[in-house]
Amino acid sequence: MEKEAVLVNTDYNALFEKQVAYSQKLRSEPWQSRKKLLKKLEEYVLKNRDRIQKALKADLGKSATEVDITEIYPVVSSIKHTVANLVNWVAPEPVDAPLTYLGTSSEIHYEPKGVCLVIGPWNFPFMLTIEPLVSCLAAGNTAIIKPSEFTPHTSALLREMVAEFFPEDLVTVVEGDAQAATQLLKLPFHHIFFTGSTGVGKIVMRAAAEHLASVTLELGGKSPTIIDSSANLADAARRIAFGKLLNTGQACVAPDYVLVDKTVEREFIDRLKEQISKLYAENGTITPQSPDYARIVNARNFNRIDSLVQDAIQRGAKVELNGPSDAAQLFFHPVILSQVSPDSKIMEEEIFGPVLPIISYSSEDEILPVVLGKPRPLALYIFSTRRSFQEKITQAVSAGAVCINECMLQFTHPNLPFGGINASGFGKAHGRYGFLAFSNEKPVLKQKRGITMSYFLHPPFTNRVKRTINLMLRWM
Ligand code: NAD
Repeated sequence: MEKEAVLVNTDYNALFEKQVAYSQKLRSEPWQSRKKLLKKLEEYVLKNRDRIQKALKADLGKSATEVDITEIYPVVSSIKHTVANLVNWVAPEPVDAPLTYLGTSSEIHYEPKGVCLVIGPWNFPFMLTIEPLVSCLAAGNTAIIKPSEFTPHTSALLREMVAEFFPEDLVTVVEGDAQAATQLLKLPFHHIFFTGSTGVGKIVMRAAAEHLASVTLELGGKSPTIIDSSANLADAARRIAFGKLLNTGQACVAPDYVLVDKTVEREFIDRLKEQISKLYAENGTITPQSPDYARIVNARNFNRIDSLVQDAIQRGAKVELNGPSDAAQLFFHPVILSQVSPDSKIMEEEIFGPVLPIISYSSEDEILPVVLGKPRPLALYIFSTRRSFQEKITQAVSAGAVCINECMLQFTHPNLPFGGINASGFGKAHGRYGFLAFSNEKPVLKQKRGITMSYFLHPPFTNRVKRTINLMLRWM
């Protein structure tokens, strides 16, 4: 599925300058034109559903329905939500004046940042470039998009579709690998929206520092899944199986590893095996022919996941579920491992594949040292019917999001901010939060009466000024 990435020979500088000029022009356009453009974009995406499904099939072996659910629907629903709410988001927001500001009026204006760079990953290569673009356009910006080189069919399709739909000075796709991204990052973008690994996120942030460009970093990490003895195990198993195996585990919010109460470990594993079979097996087995099970993106990732499994087994992990994988077809059979040693590599790096390590605990006190011993995760999943347990874990663990008795759904909720914290990223995306990421919240203060409290604080600092400040310190 790997195909040589195309490095489009573009004069990035000239392209950037064109977008700078266009973004200035956009500032004087009514916000309603953004709404019209987004509505047309929604139609255009739906009209091209078939092309998008085919590209994703070629790159990741995704079924058409999985493409609909994970690539097309999130984009379409984000457009619908944005179109319905933009009127409220763009409106200048009046703020109250405290006593010391009597005589003034102030409001917050949401102005576009300008020219933005969107760098996308390969795992949801359509959705994770076009969804940020929706926020970027809603806020009135222009954009250069750099999709991942590891999903070349989708990357080429994005280039074609964007060129068909947008003028180049509004949105352009630049294809290419890290080298192309490095060149682009030399330009003084006003905002950079990066989705990808924590390691590359650091490189992007360093490059952004050169121009003091603001950044949104949507990164990854190891999202823990904690199951206590009160959990509904059949339900937890079904949701975890879905979350872990969607896109063959190549999802930033996939449950990475499970910590389960020892007393229910066996039952949970049995239920999980049952559910995985129900979701994906054909005649009892999961094979390369199973129509709803996607593929690993490339051989490098296939071998990386395989070596994580081998290392865990060598360090004593017990294989609870496995089956024949097929490297040639990039088909990786789901794997469940129990009794996983905490110092195995699989408990250190993000798995990003269909492998679930399970660690059991005998006492609740064993949970937090494992979770807090790792960088702050993008998602924290808790399966428990005990409110006190849910609250205890939610309070103790800093995470991008918490999902209780559910998996993955926090990602598409239109009214929730999406993003990580520290190692799992920062800045928020989606809905109004995405709009804000691409906007400058610009305060505009207007003097109306000519006299405000500060007027009485101008030098020379006479006794009257001193009395005034004493008054203010005491009462205002
Ligand atoms: P990656 O960091 O390898 O690549 C992401 C993008 O960065 C690609 O377009 C790539 O070409 C570019 N890039 C690579 N090297 C670069 C460099 N030196 N300078 C500038 N750009 C460079 O990530 P990936 O492998 O495509 O995606 C997987 C990672 O992304 C996982 O860690 C996953 O958790 C994370 N992810 C996060 C989210 C989220 O929303 N938080 C979503 C999807 C994936």
